[in-house]
Amino acid sequence: MKLKKLKTQKEFLEILMDNLETKMFVFNEDMEIQELNKSSGKMISLDLNDIYGKKCGDLLQCANALEENKGCGETSKCHECHLRNSVYDSISKNSHTNKKILSREDYVCGKKEEKFFLYSSKKIAYNNKDMSLVLIDDITEIEKSRKKLHELSITDELTGIYNRRFIFESIKKEISRSERNGGIYSLMLIDIDFFKKVNDLCGHLGGDEVLKNVASEIKNNIRNMDLFGRFGGEEFILLLPETDLELALLCAERLRKAVESITFPKVGHPVTVSIGVGQYSIGETLDDILDRVDKALYKAKNNGRNRVEVSENAKTLQDS
Ligand code: GH3
Ligand code: MG
Ligand code: MG
Repeated sequence: MKLKKLKTQKEFLEILMDNLETKMFVFNEDMEIQELNKSSGKMISLDLNDIYGKKCGDLLQCANALEENKGCGETSKCHECHLRNSVYDSISKNSHTNKKILSREDYVCGKKEEKFFLYSSKKIAYNNKDMSLVLIDDITEIEKSRKKLHELSITDELTGIYNRRFIFESIKKEISRSERNGGIYSLMLIDIDFFKKVNDLCGHLGGDEVLKNVASEIKNNIRNMDLFGRFGGEEFILLLPETDLELALLCAERLRKAVESITFPKVGHPVTVSIGVGQYSIGETLDDILDRVDKALYKAKNNGRNRVEVSENAKTLQDS
Protein backbone atom coordinates (compact mmCIF):
# COMPACT_ATOMS: atom_id res chain seq x y z
CA MET A 1 0.00 0.00 0.00
CA LYS A 2 2.76 2.40 1.03
CA LEU A 3 4.75 1.39 -2.06
CA LYS A 4 1.75 2.01 -4.28
CA LYS A 5 1.36 5.48 -2.81
CA LEU A 6 5.04 6.25 -3.43
CA LYS A 7 4.75 5.02 -6.99
CA THR A 8 1.75 7.27 -7.58
CA GLN A 9 3.64 10.24 -6.09
CA LYS A 10 6.66 9.55 -8.31
CA GLU A 11 4.41 9.30 -11.34
CA PHE A 12 2.75 12.58 -10.40
CA LEU A 13 6.12 14.32 -9.95
CA GLU A 14 7.27 13.07 -13.36
CA ILE A 15 4.09 14.34 -15.00
CA LEU A 16 4.53 17.66 -13.22
CA MET A 17 8.18 18.12 -14.25
CA ASP A 18 7.54 17.08 -17.85
CA ASN A 19 4.62 19.44 -18.26
CA LEU A 20 5.97 22.43 -16.38
CA GLU A 21 6.55 25.33 -18.82
CA THR A 22 8.99 26.90 -16.35
CA LYS A 23 12.55 25.82 -17.08
CA MET A 24 14.16 24.09 -14.16
CA PHE A 25 17.90 23.59 -13.87
CA VAL A 26 20.18 22.33 -11.15
CA PHE A 27 23.63 23.92 -11.50
CA ASN A 28 26.82 23.30 -9.65
CA GLU A 29 29.18 26.17 -8.76
CA ASP A 30 30.82 26.01 -12.19
CA MET A 31 27.50 26.51 -13.97
CA GLU A 32 27.50 22.91 -15.13
CA ILE A 33 24.01 21.53 -15.59
CA GLN A 34 23.37 18.61 -13.23
CA GLU A 35 19.66 18.21 -13.78
CA LEU A 36 16.91 19.77 -15.86
CA ASN A 37 13.28 19.28 -16.87
CA LYS A 38 11.90 18.64 -20.35
CA SER A 39 10.96 22.27 -20.95
CA SER A 40 14.60 23.34 -20.37
CA GLY A 41 15.69 20.80 -22.95
CA LYS A 42 13.33 22.39 -25.50
CA MET A 43 14.85 25.81 -24.79
CA ILE A 44 18.30 24.49 -25.72
CA SER A 45 17.02 22.25 -28.58
CA LEU A 46 19.31 19.37 -27.71
CA ASP A 47 18.70 15.86 -26.54
CA LEU A 48 18.57 15.85 -22.73
CA ASN A 49 21.47 13.37 -22.56
CA ASP A 50 23.74 15.81 -24.45
CA ILE A 51 23.10 18.51 -21.88
CA TYR A 52 24.19 17.00 -18.57
CA GLY A 53 27.50 18.36 -17.31
CA LYS A 54 27.65 21.11 -19.98
CA LYS A 55 27.94 24.76 -19.03
CA CYS A 56 24.93 27.05 -19.31
CA GLY A 57 26.48 29.76 -21.56
CA ASP A 58 27.90 27.19 -23.99
CA LEU A 59 24.53 25.54 -24.41
CA LEU A 60 22.58 28.78 -24.72
CA GLN A 61 25.12 30.11 -27.27
CA CYS A 62 25.88 33.11 -25.05
CA ALA A 63 26.84 36.07 -27.30
CA ASN A 64 29.81 37.03 -25.09
CA ALA A 65 31.28 33.54 -25.29
CA LEU A 66 30.78 33.26 -29.06
CA GLU A 67 32.09 36.75 -29.82
CA GLU A 68 35.20 36.29 -27.69
CA ASN A 69 35.54 32.70 -28.90
CA LYS A 70 35.80 31.50 -25.32
CA GLY A 71 33.87 29.12 -23.11
CA CYS A 72 31.23 29.93 -20.49
CA GLY A 73 33.10 31.23 -17.44
CA GLU A 74 36.17 32.36 -19.43
CA THR A 75 35.03 35.59 -21.11
CA SER A 76 35.88 39.11 -19.94
CA LYS A 77 32.20 39.68 -19.15
CA CYS A 78 31.42 36.52 -17.16
CA HIS A 79 31.86 38.36 -13.85
CA GLU A 80 28.91 40.58 -14.90
CA CYS A 81 26.64 37.61 -15.69
CA HIS A 82 23.68 37.90 -13.28
CA LEU A 83 22.71 34.27 -13.67
CA ARG A 84 26.26 33.08 -12.91
CA ASN A 85 26.52 35.40 -9.90
CA SER A 86 23.19 34.36 -8.48
CA VAL A 87 24.05 30.66 -8.84
CA TYR A 88 27.41 31.25 -7.18
CA ASP A 89 25.90 33.37 -4.37
CA SER A 90 23.08 30.93 -3.72
CA ILE A 91 25.63 28.16 -3.15
CA SER A 92 28.39 30.05 -1.36
CA LYS A 93 26.31 32.63 0.56
CA ASN A 94 23.02 30.76 0.75
CA SER A 95 21.32 33.81 -0.80
CA HIS A 96 17.94 33.44 -2.45
CA THR A 97 17.10 35.25 -5.69
CA ASN A 98 13.36 35.58 -6.19
CA LYS A 99 11.90 36.38 -9.62
CA LYS A 100 14.46 38.81 -10.94
CA ILE A 101 14.52 39.99 -14.54
CA LEU A 102 17.56 38.90 -16.50
CA SER A 103 18.41 40.21 -19.94
CA ARG A 104 21.00 38.41 -22.01
CA GLU A 105 22.12 38.14 -25.59
CA ASP A 106 22.26 34.70 -27.14
CA TYR A 107 22.69 33.47 -30.68
CA VAL A 108 19.60 31.71 -32.01
CA CYS A 109 20.05 30.05 -35.44
CA GLY A 110 23.15 32.19 -36.03
CA LYS A 111 21.40 35.47 -35.21
CA LYS A 112 22.03 37.51 -32.06
CA GLU A 113 18.85 37.98 -30.02
CA GLU A 114 18.14 39.89 -26.84
CA LYS A 115 16.25 37.64 -24.47
CA PHE A 116 14.52 38.41 -21.18
CA PHE A 117 14.00 35.86 -18.44
CA LEU A 118 12.40 35.88 -15.02
CA TYR A 119 14.59 33.74 -12.79
CA SER A 120 14.88 32.51 -9.22
CA SER A 121 17.73 30.65 -7.60
CA LYS A 122 18.04 28.81 -4.31
CA LYS A 123 20.58 26.52 -2.66
CA ILE A 124 19.60 22.85 -2.53
CA ALA A 125 21.35 19.65 -1.52
CA TYR A 126 21.50 17.35 -4.53
CA ASN A 127 23.52 14.14 -4.80
CA ASN A 128 24.95 15.04 -1.38
CA LYS A 129 26.41 18.27 -2.74
CA ASP A 130 25.44 21.95 -2.50
CA MET A 131 23.83 22.99 -5.76
CA SER A 132 21.63 25.77 -7.05
CA LEU A 133 18.07 25.18 -8.19
CA VAL A 134 17.26 27.74 -10.89
CA LEU A 135 13.75 28.36 -12.24
CA ILE A 136 13.54 30.35 -15.47
CA ASP A 137 10.58 31.74 -17.46
CA ASP A 138 11.11 33.27 -20.87
CA ILE A 139 9.40 36.69 -20.76
CA THR A 140 11.01 38.10 -23.93
CA GLU A 141 7.69 38.82 -25.66
CA ILE A 142 6.13 40.44 -22.57
CA GLU A 143 9.24 42.52 -21.95
CA LYS A 144 9.43 43.67 -25.59
CA SER A 145 5.77 44.76 -25.50
CA ARG A 146 6.37 46.52 -22.19
CA LYS A 147 9.32 48.41 -23.68
CA LYS A 148 7.29 49.32 -26.77
CA LEU A 149 4.45 50.63 -24.58
CA HIS A 150 6.92 52.62 -22.49
CA GLU A 151 8.41 54.15 -25.66
CA LEU A 152 4.94 55.09 -26.88
CA SER A 153 4.13 56.64 -23.51
CA ILE A 154 7.12 59.01 -23.69
CA THR A 155 7.02 59.82 -27.42
CA ASP A 156 5.24 62.56 -29.34
CA GLU A 157 3.29 60.79 -32.07
CA LEU A 158 3.81 63.33 -34.87
CA THR A 159 7.49 64.16 -34.51
CA GLY A 160 8.86 61.03 -32.79
CA ILE A 161 10.67 63.14 -30.18
CA TYR A 162 9.88 63.03 -26.44
CA ASN A 163 6.50 64.28 -25.31
CA ARG A 164 5.84 67.04 -22.82
CA ARG A 165 5.16 64.72 -19.88
CA PHE A 166 8.47 62.90 -20.24
CA ILE A 167 10.44 66.15 -20.54
CA PHE A 168 8.72 67.56 -17.46
CA GLU A 169 9.59 64.43 -15.48
CA SER A 170 13.18 64.66 -16.72
CA ILE A 171 13.47 68.32 -15.69
CA LYS A 172 12.16 67.47 -12.21
CA LYS A 173 14.79 64.72 -11.93
CA GLU A 174 17.46 67.13 -13.14
CA ILE A 175 16.35 69.68 -10.50
CA SER A 176 16.67 67.05 -7.72
CA ARG A 177 20.08 66.05 -9.06
CA SER A 178 21.25 69.68 -9.14
CA GLU A 179 20.08 70.15 -5.57
CA ARG A 180 21.89 67.00 -4.45
CA ASN A 181 25.22 67.53 -6.16
CA GLY A 182 25.14 71.07 -7.52
CA GLY A 183 25.08 69.98 -11.17
CA ILE A 184 24.22 72.64 -13.71
CA TYR A 185 21.87 72.49 -16.66
CA SER A 186 20.15 74.83 -19.08
CA LEU A 187 16.76 74.89 -20.71
CA MET A 188 15.51 76.20 -24.07
CA LEU A 189 12.06 76.92 -25.44
CA ILE A 190 11.99 76.97 -29.23
CA ASP A 191 8.95 78.30 -31.06
CA ILE A 192 8.42 78.32 -34.84
CA ASP A 193 7.79 81.83 -36.15
CA PHE A 194 4.54 82.66 -37.94
CA PHE A 195 3.56 79.00 -38.06
CA LYS A 196 -0.07 79.91 -38.68
CA LYS A 197 1.06 81.36 -42.00
CA VAL A 198 2.90 78.11 -42.80
CA ASN A 199 -0.37 76.22 -42.30
CA ASP A 200 -2.23 78.77 -44.44
CA LEU A 201 0.34 78.35 -47.23
CA CYS A 202 0.60 74.56 -47.33
CA GLY A 203 -2.32 73.20 -45.35
CA HIS A 204 -2.37 71.43 -42.01
CA LEU A 205 -0.67 68.30 -43.39
CA GLY A 206 2.04 70.42 -45.01
CA GLY A 207 2.41 72.16 -41.65
CA ASP A 208 2.83 68.78 -39.99
CA GLU A 209 5.68 67.97 -42.40
CA VAL A 210 7.39 71.25 -41.49
CA LEU A 211 7.04 70.40 -37.79
CA LYS A 212 8.59 66.96 -38.34
CA ASN A 213 11.49 68.39 -40.35
CA VAL A 214 12.24 71.14 -37.85
CA ALA A 215 12.17 68.58 -35.01
CA SER A 216 14.53 66.19 -36.78
CA GLU A 217 16.92 69.04 -37.76
CA ILE A 218 17.17 70.08 -34.10
CA LYS A 219 17.54 66.45 -32.98
CA ASN A 220 20.44 66.03 -35.40
CA ASN A 221 22.20 69.08 -33.97
CA ILE A 222 22.21 68.20 -30.28
CA ARG A 223 24.13 65.71 -28.12
CA ASN A 224 22.82 62.26 -27.18
CA MET A 225 22.59 63.32 -23.56
CA ASP A 226 20.32 66.30 -24.35
CA LEU A 227 16.59 65.75 -23.93
CA PHE A 228 14.47 67.23 -26.68
CA GLY A 229 10.69 67.18 -26.68
CA ARG A 230 7.53 68.75 -28.03
CA PHE A 231 6.19 71.29 -25.58
CA GLY A 232 2.94 71.56 -27.54
CA GLY A 233 1.80 72.84 -30.96
CA GLU A 234 4.77 74.42 -32.75
CA GLU A 235 6.83 74.81 -29.61
CA PHE A 236 9.71 72.61 -28.47
CA ILE A 237 11.64 72.25 -25.24
CA LEU A 238 15.29 71.27 -24.91
CA LEU A 239 17.00 70.24 -21.69
CA LEU A 240 20.79 70.52 -21.77
CA PRO A 241 22.42 68.70 -18.84
CA GLU A 242 25.88 69.83 -17.68
CA THR A 243 25.57 73.01 -19.75
CA ASP A 244 25.98 76.58 -18.53
CA LEU A 245 24.30 79.62 -20.04
CA GLU A 246 27.25 80.51 -22.26
CA LEU A 247 27.36 77.07 -23.87
CA ALA A 248 23.57 76.92 -24.12
CA LEU A 249 23.58 80.24 -25.96
CA LEU A 250 26.09 78.93 -28.51
CA CYS A 251 23.94 75.84 -28.97
CA ALA A 252 20.79 77.95 -29.42
CA GLU A 253 22.45 80.06 -32.14
CA ARG A 254 23.57 76.89 -33.91
CA LEU A 255 20.04 75.49 -33.80
CA ARG A 256 18.50 78.76 -35.01
CA LYS A 257 20.82 78.81 -38.02
CA ALA A 258 20.29 75.11 -38.74
CA VAL A 259 16.50 75.53 -38.89
CA GLU A 260 16.78 78.68 -41.01
CA SER A 261 18.83 76.80 -43.59
CA ILE A 262 16.30 74.00 -44.21
CA THR A 263 14.62 74.35 -47.61
CA PHE A 264 10.84 73.99 -47.66
CA PRO A 265 9.74 74.28 -51.32
CA LYS A 266 6.02 74.20 -50.41
CA VAL A 267 6.42 77.11 -47.96
CA GLY A 268 8.51 79.14 -50.39
CA HIS A 269 10.51 81.01 -47.74
CA PRO A 270 12.77 80.02 -44.84
CA VAL A 271 11.04 78.77 -41.71
CA THR A 272 12.60 80.33 -38.62
CA VAL A 273 12.47 79.86 -34.87
CA SER A 274 12.69 82.14 -31.86
CA ILE A 275 14.47 80.75 -28.83
CA GLY A 276 14.47 81.56 -25.11
CA VAL A 277 17.38 80.21 -23.06
CA GLY A 278 18.06 80.01 -19.32
CA GLN A 279 20.34 78.27 -16.87
CA TYR A 280 18.80 76.58 -13.85
CA SER A 281 19.54 78.18 -10.48
CA ILE A 282 19.53 76.12 -7.31
CA GLY A 283 16.30 76.62 -5.37
CA GLU A 284 14.13 77.24 -8.42
CA THR A 285 11.07 75.09 -9.12
CA LEU A 286 10.10 73.71 -12.50
CA ASP A 287 7.56 76.52 -12.88
CA ASP A 288 10.19 79.17 -11.97
CA ILE A 289 12.67 78.14 -14.66
CA LEU A 290 9.94 77.60 -17.27
CA ASP A 291 8.52 81.02 -16.54
CA ARG A 292 11.93 82.69 -16.94
CA VAL A 293 12.71 80.90 -20.20
CA ASP A 294 9.22 81.62 -21.54
CA LYS A 295 9.77 85.32 -20.85
CA ALA A 296 13.05 85.16 -22.80
CA LEU A 297 11.18 83.53 -25.70
CA TYR A 298 8.58 86.27 -25.56
CA LYS A 299 11.39 88.82 -25.73
CA ALA A 300 12.81 87.07 -28.82
CA LYS A 301 9.38 87.32 -30.48
CA ASN A 302 9.01 91.00 -29.55
CA ASN A 303 12.52 91.83 -30.72
CA GLY A 304 11.76 90.67 -34.26
CA ARG A 305 11.74 86.79 -34.20
CA ASN A 306 14.38 84.47 -35.72
CA ARG A 307 16.60 85.26 -32.75
CA VAL A 308 17.81 84.00 -29.38
CA GLU A 309 17.21 85.78 -26.07
CA VAL A 310 18.68 84.85 -22.73
CA SER A 311 17.02 84.83 -19.34
CA GLU A 312 19.32 86.22 -16.71
CA ASN A 313 20.42 83.60 -14.25
CA ALA A 314 18.09 83.90 -11.23
CA LYS A 315 21.01 83.53 -8.82
CA THR A 316 22.95 86.29 -10.58
CA LEU A 317 19.93 88.56 -10.27
CA GLN A 318 19.66 87.82 -6.54
CA ASP A 319 23.39 88.26 -6.03
CA SER A 320 23.57 91.60 -7.83
P1 GH3 B 1 4.51 83.35 -33.52
O1 GH3 B 1 5.63 83.72 -34.42
O2 GH3 B 1 4.06 84.50 -32.66
O3 GH3 B 1 4.81 82.13 -32.72
O4 GH3 B 1 3.28 83.03 -34.47
P2 GH3 B 1 2.62 81.63 -34.76
O5 GH3 B 1 1.70 81.78 -35.92
O6 GH3 B 1 3.68 80.59 -34.92
O7 GH3 B 1 1.89 81.33 -33.40
P3 GH3 B 1 0.39 81.07 -33.03
O8 GH3 B 1 0.43 80.61 -31.60
O9 GH3 B 1 -0.45 82.26 -33.34
O10 GH3 B 1 -0.05 79.87 -33.96
C1 GH3 B 1 0.45 78.59 -33.84
C2 GH3 B 1 -0.19 77.75 -34.89
O11 GH3 B 1 0.36 76.42 -34.85
C3 GH3 B 1 -1.66 77.62 -34.74
C4 GH3 B 1 -1.94 76.14 -34.81
O12 GH3 B 1 -2.97 75.84 -35.70
C5 GH3 B 1 -0.65 75.56 -35.34
N1 GH3 B 1 -0.42 74.21 -34.86
C6 GH3 B 1 -0.36 73.78 -33.57
N2 GH3 B 1 -0.15 72.45 -33.52
C7 GH3 B 1 -0.07 72.01 -34.80
C8 GH3 B 1 0.14 70.73 -35.42
O13 GH3 B 1 0.30 69.71 -34.76
N3 GH3 B 1 0.16 70.69 -36.76
C9 GH3 B 1 -0.02 71.80 -37.53
N4 GH3 B 1 0.04 71.67 -38.85
N5 GH3 B 1 -0.22 73.01 -36.99
C10 GH3 B 1 -0.26 73.12 -35.65
MG1 MG C 1 4.92 80.19 -33.18
MG1 MG D 1 3.63 79.03 -29.99
